[in-house]
Amino acid sequence: MAVKETRFIWMDGKLVRWKDAKVHILTHALHYGSAVFEGIHSYKTDEGTAIFRLDEHINRLFRSANALSMKLKFTKAQLKAAIKKLIKINSIGDAYIRPLAYYGYGDIGVYPKDILTNIAVITMPWEHYYSGNLRIKTSKFARHSEKSTVYGTKISGNYANSILAMHEARKKGFDEALMLDLDGYVSEGPAENIFMVKSKRLIAPFSKSALPGITRHSILKMSGDLGIKPFERKVRLDELKNADELFFCGTATEVAPIIAIDGKKIGDGKAGEITSKVRDKFYSIVRGKDSKYRKWLTYA
Ligand code: PMP
Repeated sequence: MAVKETRFIWMDGKLVRWKDAKVHILTHALHYGSAVFEGIHSYKTDEGTAIFRLDEHINRLFRSANALSMKLKFTKAQLKAAIKKLIKINSIGDAYIRPLAYYGYGDIGVYPKDILTNIAVITMPWEHYYSGNLRIKTSKFARHSEKSTVYGTKISGNYANSILAMHEARKKGFDEALMLDLDGYVSEGPAENIFMVKSKRLIAPFSKSALPGITRHSILKMSGDLGIKPFERKVRLDELKNADELFFCGTATEVAPIIAIDGKKIGDGKAGEITSKVRDKFYSIVRGKDSKYRKWLTYA
């Protein structure tokens, strides 16, 4: 998704003009991926701009920072206030919100000795990340295991692994990659989780190599309202290839149908019935049309 400029970016407590939001070339995170980030989505609703599951995203940002022993100079409440302010000042409704905390300038060694952390929040207008149905390719690169990184965190350096898988898939003409864990079980996409539907059952592949996504969690919680009982379990690649329906989900991706994997058609090659139901329900929740899930929305 191309960058769309807005007026301001929030950097270490100050509103900085978009073109002035720069860092020094010796910024530690540029060299070693020593940063943590979040992707958050806000939506236009009848009652104003609503940020989806803001608390959960901010909590995960702090957990990620903690994993890298980063001390953030702002509290959760201050960051949430900064996000709300930025949405207002940049006057955006449907937005992608990117908080980024990073080890800054001060040392060139890998160990970020005495380096202060910086933190920024970027907001930009956002449409759908994927508008069409997806054809995906299983990657030869395994997703990081919990033995090589900290489970459940969004550490920037881990995303080099996703970039490798994306290049591999795109070079061969696929839309996205599917990543397996070291044991060969289904893990996730490079930046999204995956669901499978088999015999009307909704199955969320479980792997300690996958990020336990907030969208995934939301779908697991709300699917009961659609009369669907969800399951979480380890899933093998051959099971996935024989699914009736598949879809990716994530903050940027939302709910994106997958219609083929490694050239094999899934179902009848169109967005499936349960996928469409889940997607419609997801949109009604994020647009503030479902009173049961208003608790997931924070108005800017
Ligand atoms: N997996 C990875 C690797 C991701 O980067 C993301 C996006 N944050 C997801 C899954 C989906 O997580 P969420 O629903 O919390 O955005």
